[in-house]
Amino acid sequence: TYVVTENCIACKYMDCVEVCPVDCFYEGENTLVIHPDECIDCGVCEPECPADAIRPDTEPEMDKWVEFNRKYAELW
Ligand code: SF4
Repeated sequence: TYVVTENCIACKYMDCVEVCPVDCFYEGENTLVIHPDECIDCGVCEPECPADAIRPDTEPEMDKWVEFNRKYAELW
């Protein structure tokens, strides 16, 4: 899965949302999140983000971000 990380906060550029084929982005007041169970790992959103905030969960220390994305995707 891909996850939204801290660089998204207060950015919300939204181009990633436009390209996602499964609409798995959720929008809060200050950031976006990706629902980790809905993301199909296609990767098309990653290059769209000008803040480099969208990262694959295979990178180191992403567990906390996966949990953050899951928690808020379910709330929003
Ligand atoms: Fe959507 Fe693909 Fe990005 Fe996952 S990797 S959030 S499915 S655009």
